[in-house]
Amino acid sequence: MKVISSITELQHELANFDKEQVALVPTMGCLHEGHISLIQKAKRLADIVVVSIYVNPLQFGANEDLDNYPRTLEADIVACENEGVDFIFHPQNLYPEHGIQVGLHVDSLSQGLCGASRQGHFDGVVTVVNILFNIVQPQLAIFGEKDFQQLTIIQRMASDLHMPVEVIGAETVREEDGLAKSSRNTYLNAEQRTQAREISIALSLMQQAVAESLSLEDTLEIALAHLKKFGIQAEYLEICYTDSLQPAQSLDTDKPLRALIAAKVGSTRLIDNMPLCPTSAAKPNPEDNPLCA
Ligand code: AMP
Repeated sequence: MKVISSITELQHELANFDKEQVALVPTMGCLHEGHISLIQKAKRLADIVVVSIYVNPLQFGANEDLDNYPRTLEADIVACENEGVDFIFHPQNLYPEHGIQVGLHVDSLSQGLCGASRQGHFDGVVTVVNILFNIVQPQLAIFGEKDFQQLTIIQRMASDLHMPVEVIGAETVREEDGLAKSSRNTYLNAEQRTQAREISIALSLMQQAVAESLSLEDTLEIALAHLKKFGIQAEYLEICYTDSLQPAQSLDTDKPLRALIAAKVGSTRLIDNMPLCPTSAAKPNPEDNPLCA
């Protein structure tokens, strides 16, 4: 495995692989089992795996945790080595010295959910992912369903802009009690860590309510009441159509649905989501929605 910080050096190395399938796994480091599952999927699907580790300043707002974001490069290198990664790409900076003049913009897909409170966040995400795609030129790129809005937007970016890359989603990896693994979980103290698990429990309660044919309003109410009981106030809690990410009007639909949440535990903002399978609806493609199979 090679750890490379220079763009030209990485491109020089990748030029050796003409016929091989290259998969890119973009990350911000502080790798955990969620990232590892993406790497393992990449290993299964491609010949060469590139993991990028870059804390992208363009996707952090002024009052967000850019400076404090956990950086654990030494441990990340060991984890990648153990998984048989071919290249770690760890650039110092991906932008021109005096700032970037031209980037990408996301339209309505970025207006709700996380985009509502994180102005410019998804523009920063698609811009850096576009830069990484241009540098690495992968045939495949793997992103986690954990960041479902991000995955949806990047799939739309690749499709809208006819990018020669297949963007593949990977299921969320969870702690034993259901909490979605996240680099930001390292910010939680013991009490907050216990509280945080109620986020995924609230989503599971929504899955249960939907399976029992409760209404959209009652389903949301059950989850909100659960969160309230544990002192968690959601920034958003929504049931959305999977493709448009627009709020669902009713659960009586054959369109795939997803429950999505963001909530602060202490000062740590956590996000999570799960598929919903209304009993009245035609079953979605199990590949899209394994929990509905
Ligand atoms: P990050 O380092 O947080 O930018 O995440 C890098 C990639 O890992 C993104 O595609 C995330 O969606 C994915 N990821 C983060 N946490 C998880 C998780 N618990 N399970 C699966 N994928 C994840």
